[in-house]
Amino acid sequence: MTRSLQMGPGIFPEIDYGDEDALLHAEHLIDSLFSSGLKEIAGIYRLASRIKNSYDRLEPFFTRFTGPVCARCVTGCCVNRHGFPDYEDMVIFRALRVRRQGFDPTLPDQEPCQYLEKRGCRLERYQRSYRCTWYFCDRVLNRFEKEQLEEYRKFRACCQELASERQHLLTCFGRMIGWRF
Ligand code: SF4
Ligand code: SF4
Repeated sequence: MTRSLQMGPGIFPEIDYGDEDALLHAEHLIDSLFSSGLKEIAGIYRLASRIKNSYDRLEPFFTRFTGPVCARCVTGCCVNRHGFPDYEDMVIFRALRVRRQGFDPTLPDQEPCQYLEKRGCRLERYQRSYRCTWYFCDRVLNRFEKEQLEEYRKFRACCQELASERQHLLTCFGRMIGWRF
């Protein structure tokens, strides 16, 4: 059994890996909803700024505790499939006013992620697919918990806060459009 950190339930349409047309279609739809002038949009931007603050609070934990272990990992878990954003990621990117990074969908899904560089991922945390933030293998989590229990607890609490803020924003977005996609 793995212990990776929680992620909210998927409530938005699936986009298959590499389906650039579906991605662009969803992106266009999301863009037009954000530009529609609906009064709820202001609230969604406010929620997004809380999400950004949560990412900022998490960053020191990644830098101090998980990053050094991942940097020495020989197997790695960054593959193209994980770097490809989903529908929910794109709603969050738009709410954060973050431009989606170009992605070459012709590259095999299980090959090393195209955003991966020698020193790690070249994207800011909030520019990545959310799965890249919550996923850590047991080795990282076990070690973090064993060596730095108090910090680990704080880290988990921050991750849970981010997950719940994210879920709240997505729910507000879904309600705003009447769950019609
Ligand atoms: S999460 Fe685990 S498998 Fe992935 S890079 Fe870090 S140490 Fe390696
Ligand atoms: S963390 Fe970065 S390099 Fe790793 S899978 Fe995610 S986007 Fe790709």
